[in-house]
Amino acid sequence: MLLCAIMNIMERPQATPVLDQIRVLGQYEKFPTDTAHLAGELSAPQNLARLATDFDNGVTPLRDVGGMFTAQRTAILEAYQAGAISSIATTHPEILSIPVQNLHERVVSGNQDQPVGHNFFVNATGFLDARLPWARQFDELLRARTGASLYDVAQSDDKAGKDRLLAAITENPDTELMTTLAVYLAGRSLEGEKYLKQHYGETLERAKGQVYATTQRIAATTGLRIDMLERAAGQLQRATFGSFDHLQGLVTSDNSGAAGDYRIGSLRVEIQFDGSVRSARLREGADAHHVVAHELHHAGSAQTQENYRCGLQINGQGLEANEGMTEYLAQLSVGSPGIERLTDGGLRIRQDVPYRAPVFAMLALHEQFKAGKSNHFAVLFNAYHGDVRSQARLEQALDAFYQHDVTISSQLSR
Ligand SMILES: [Zn+2]
Repeated sequence: MLLCAIMNIMERPQATPVLDQIRVLGQYEKFPTDTAHLAGELSAPQNLARLATDFDNGVTPLRDVGGMFTAQRTAILEAYQAGAISSIATTHPEILSIPVQNLHERVVSGNQDQPVGHNFFVNATGFLDARLPWARQFDELLRARTGASLYDVAQSDDKAGKDRLLAAITENPDTELMTTLAVYLAGRSLEGEKYLKQHYGETLERAKGQVYATTQRIAATTGLRIDMLERAAGQLQRATFGSFDHLQGLVTSDNSGAAGDYRIGSLRVEIQFDGSVRSARLREGADAHHVVAHELHHAGSAQTQENYRCGLQINGQGLEANEGMTEYLAQLSVGSPGIERLTDGGLRIRQDVPYRAPVFAMLALHEQFKAGKSNHFAVLFNAYHGDVRSQARLEQALDAFYQHDVTISSQLSR
């Protein structure tokens, strides 16, 4: 049956079925994609150079619970090291108050996926055990104000009480408390980033080379504009880890099913723990490598903050095409472990490959392209990297993708 799926596609006549006026809902999409609209939005002029500039200026988000930018975190930690934090509290109080306010909003917004107050205090005891000075100062201040230490609070069974305590200390704190909390948040944010670097830093560097090699190799066949290839290279070079903040989202894949994550416009990737919340484990080598390669392809794709563009996805449309391209390229970058070539020459996508149907659809389009039967893959690959020459051809290519995707999805689910 799988073989049929790919063979049928390969044998399809060249004329592309046009899904005019039809909105298609991919398997992974919340909203149906209108390919004409999507092609129009992807074709509109966009400032694709801004991502790297913003990153270099320290104004992209770190993905921590304080909602800080690099420049804010650096300012807080440098002032702290220099013993000048009280002058920031006077001259730029917002640098300290905004992260604390963001934490406050997170705790009062409720549990979502985890007990926020409980996890916050348990996490804090870990930093205290590691003798980090900003954790010790937070502990001292907490004891002075409430009579309870971080350990006392963490060990309590009263989860709602921990939420209330965290909400209380982050709501309109005085200068001393605000400063202590902001330094604590900046410290733990940097530790979270170091944690991913320590475990997966070498994997990230190795994968960057492979991801760029894949991009460059295919770009040479699709005629991707050189400035767009160079932009992708610059983005990959800058890409780094997020702060791996468990209060921002679960660090395990337990709830979301995600193994990794990339936030649009951040150039910051994340690898999530394996296992469950109760028994979280680091990801094994090959698994981590695959996750990093996938997130890095996202990081190298064309992006804008204002309309949430990432590769082929924009304003919530085109997710399926974007993930199909991303995971297909990631497969190529890590040696195609999920693509099996059968003895009769047919191709198969292994069952454990994420976004299996869209990856299958992209593979089919690439095979057609390599065989000179259609140009859709090249159009999609170039658009993913910010090079759109014809809105009409992009719409046709998106239609071809979704047509394949829908057919394959239904065959795979039989
Ligand atoms: Zn993805």
